[in-house]
Amino acid sequence: GVPRTRRPRRPDRLVHLNLLLMVSDTISNTVSKGSNTMGFRLANVDGRAVLVHGEHYTDVATHSSGALGSDPMEVLSRPDLLGELSATLDDSSVTGLLADVVLGPPVPRPQKSFGIGLNYAAHAAEGGREAPDSPLVFTKFPSCLVGPTADVEVRSDGCDYEGELVVAIGEGGRDITIDDAWNHVVGVTIGQDISDRPAQFAAKPPHFDLGKSFDTFGPIGPMLVSTDELRDRDALHITCSINGEVRQDGNTSDLIFDVPTLVSFLSSITTLVTGDIIFTGTPEGVGAAQGKFLADGDVITTTIRGIGTMTNRVVRISDARPIRG
Ligand code: ZN
Repeated sequence: GVPRTRRPRRPDRLVHLNLLLMVSDTISNTVSKGSNTMGFRLANVDGRAVLVHGEHYTDVATHSSGALGSDPMEVLSRPDLLGELSATLDDSSVTGLLADVVLGPPVPRPQKSFGIGLNYAAHAAEGGREAPDSPLVFTKFPSCLVGPTADVEVRSDGCDYEGELVVAIGEGGRDITIDDAWNHVVGVTIGQDISDRPAQFAAKPPHFDLGKSFDTFGPIGPMLVSTDELRDRDALHITCSINGEVRQDGNTSDLIFDVPTLVSFLSSITTLVTGDIIFTGTPEGVGAAQGKFLADGDVITTTIRGIGTMTNRVVRISDARPIRG
């Protein structure tokens, strides 16, 4: 395989430092704001939608003169207003400093939360599996979603990380065409599709929903970024490190079923609604392929260039199980 970059082990980072890194990544990898860009960066502070600008955030409801409410789910239907509001932000509209708050999941209560399995050829191969001919879709129950600095609570010694691009639906629809699909994506964020492998493969044939839906198994964030903020929405560099060791280093240009194909495919089966999210699959380098599962105290750092960085700590809790195989 391709050798991975090894970075020096770093001590556990504080939230503040993480946020500073997040901001610097934001500045160095995005399109410079021109007069005609209407992009935005949306986050969740105490259950309220906020727009992020630099190291500050601004409360959406307070600064939109009533045009937009405070619910992070509801504002997803109005990317036009979010873009307009974002373009007006300056030092006079600061609600607070990102470093002073704990962010929640930018999309906290989707009606549907899809996961896509084996969507990178190298990842399918590392698990000894054939690349699928049709999208391998499962459910991550929305109840597993947590914020970008939340602890991940694992209940076995066989839990695994999966860094992924997550996309959120803006305008819903049915039978959305591939050509039109990006127009239905309100923004993209970073996700971890945490997986309890023993639970995932306990049943025969295996089914993924439960093993990937334990409480806290879906950290997303730090913010939802509209695609016009990105240099190339179809080629996003993604990495995942455990305690500073790079385990995954991929690019969404290698997706077997790309974002437009997934949106179109899913909408041919179920009507997509505002706020539905899709975990688009993970590149190679998962722990199961290396015998390196998550342990108590591990720090998972997931980065997508142009979006930011998400850092989650692993906490090993009791291993009570309803059924043992
Ligand atoms: Zn996954």
